[in-house]
Amino acid sequence: VHIPKPPKIKGKKIEGITNIIAVASGKGGVGKSTVASNLSVSLKKMGFEVGILDADIYGPSIPIMFDVEDKKPFAIKVDGVSKMKPIENYGVKILSIGFFTKKGEAVIWRGPMASKALKQMIFDANWGKLDVLILDLPPGTGDIHLSILQSMPVTGAVIVSTPQNVALADVSKAVAMFRQQAIDVPILGIIENMAYFTPKELPDNKYYIFGREGAKTLSKDMDIPFLGEIPIVQSVREAGDIGCPVAAHEDTPLQEIFQNITRNTV
Ligand code: ADP
Repeated sequence: VHIPKPPKIKGKKIEGITNIIAVASGKGGVGKSTVASNLSVSLKKMGFEVGILDADIYGPSIPIMFDVEDKKPFAIKVDGVSKMKPIENYGVKILSIGFFTKKGEAVIWRGPMASKALKQMIFDANWGKLDVLILDLPPGTGDIHLSILQSMPVTGAVIVSTPQNVALADVSKAVAMFRQQAIDVPILGIIENMAYFTPKELPDNKYYIFGREGAKTLSKDMDIPFLGEIPIVQSVREAGDIGCPVAAHEDTPLQEIFQNITRNTV
């Protein structure tokens, strides 16, 4: 993977993990976790060793999106030290706060507790050798982001947005967060999700339901690479709900869309 090295490593280096890519969004519900899961599966298909850490503590959806909702990671001894073993599916190693909460129960931890749990899942887990660890951040810009981004050597960040104005307004805040001196994480680019809709009956017609090219335009204005656009497709939603990301499906136009976005990212 060719990713520029961050100017300074703030967090402890994690042995065996070469790159950490944070997937962020200004707003919730724009498809951040959908993109994070498909990015990780695409990277695996490209031949990289990949892990995903679901840091979206208030709405962990990665266990559902990878069909491992009922799994519980157990501890193994590595050199006499007890370490959490990630769950694996589609060749991707997975850890999520969702594995440690009861179904239907809300996480009502305060910031420091959540940060501690996340740090354990990074530093006290048996990830093995990873080329890329995808970090699915909570939406927005809060305390928890500051704590995660300062304690981990994040290589770069990808920002997901819909083309809609209310989502774009918060993208600028997320960009500002990553560019803050205390964080200083390079932004690899912006991905426009839910860019348009094409009905089957009218394959040549694109409907710009959430507005047209808003994220693309913003990326130009802010001098950030544009990594690609993903249309609104029912099977993207269905694949997430049944726990088999579209990137894992063979030879479909959607798999190709995610492959291209992934190539642009790394
Ligand atoms: P976030 O992580 O930003 O909260 P999610 O990835 O959970 O967002 O996506 C929110 C909902 O939108 C989910 O039901 C997901 O399946 C759906 N979704 C995301 N991207 C698309 C898309 N391109 N087409 C159709 N549905 C999508």
